[in-house]
Amino acid sequence: MTTVLAIDIGATKFAAGIIRADGTLLRRIERPTGNRPTDTLTELVTAIDPNGVDAVGIGTAGPLDRDRGTVSPVNIPYWRTFPLTATVAELVPGVPVALAGDAQCMALGEWWRTRPTVRALLGVVVSTGIGGGLVLDGRPYLGPTGNAGHLGHITVAPDGETCPCGATGCVETIASGPSMVRWALGHGWTPAGEHGGAPDARTLAADARRGVPIARAAFTRAAEALADALLTTAALCDIDEVVVGGGVSAAGSTLIRPIHQALSRRHGMPFLRRLRISATRLGRDAGLYGAAALALAPAPATTGEPCT
Ligand SMILES: [Zn+2]
Repeated sequence: MTTVLAIDIGATKFAAGIIRADGTLLRRIERPTGNRPTDTLTELVTAIDPNGVDAVGIGTAGPLDRDRGTVSPVNIPYWRTFPLTATVAELVPGVPVALAGDAQCMALGEWWRTRPTVRALLGVVVSTGIGGGLVLDGRPYLGPTGNAGHLGHITVAPDGETCPCGATGCVETIASGPSMVRWALGHGWTPAGEHGGAPDARTLAADARRGVPIARAAFTRAAEALADALLTTAALCDIDEVVVGGGVSAAGSTLIRPIHQALSRRHGMPFLRRLRISATRLGRDAGLYGAAALALAPAPATTGEPCT
């Protein structure tokens, strides 16, 4: 049976897995990203022992350039226009290497392993930033440059904050973990929570669960912004189901419920009423499974290809 190497490149950790075409995860390892990510990558691939795999799939923090196989992850400053595909091809010679964004792989992994009958799935990663990925009619839609699904940079507040991307009022400026924490602190939140009171999204979620008003307000505000972006995307792409993952999604119903409530209030067109929203079922391995799915059925090449 076809066996692939899946690699998940993130700002805090790299993961690798050997996965069969039937979805069996044969082995899995991970390493902290560290300050020398190229060395981490080499050590990771060597340790997982990719001998005998038929293909490699990589999901990576972006932005990326699929044509050139390069990445410049915002939160891995050591890598700028880093030739990720070529580097992995040297480590695992003689097999094809496919590359996509981490949120795109999260969406593809959830679709492949848990929701294969969904025609139009949107995966959303709510974490340090906000990413997104589309699986339409059973295929990842990556876009001509490979960057489709950048849901975090949909404008939801035209008079809002300037986003690091240069635009104004992106959903990421309201609903990412750090944005929620910044807003709550600016409105008088004193972190307490059950995790030692660190001013982070985890403590904010714990405080929201305990009923701290400003913490709840931060989640409600984020949920309203996310609902705007989700409805925009759903109206454009006729989405059936939204799957929410990423570190902030560990908040569970604290995040999902207010999004659901906001969606229920705001949908306009009848076809938007069927939009379902749920949390990831694969958790932190969703991206790894998606990278495997990408290797098993690579998306079309980028520039010049028709949108399928
Ligand atoms: Zn932005």
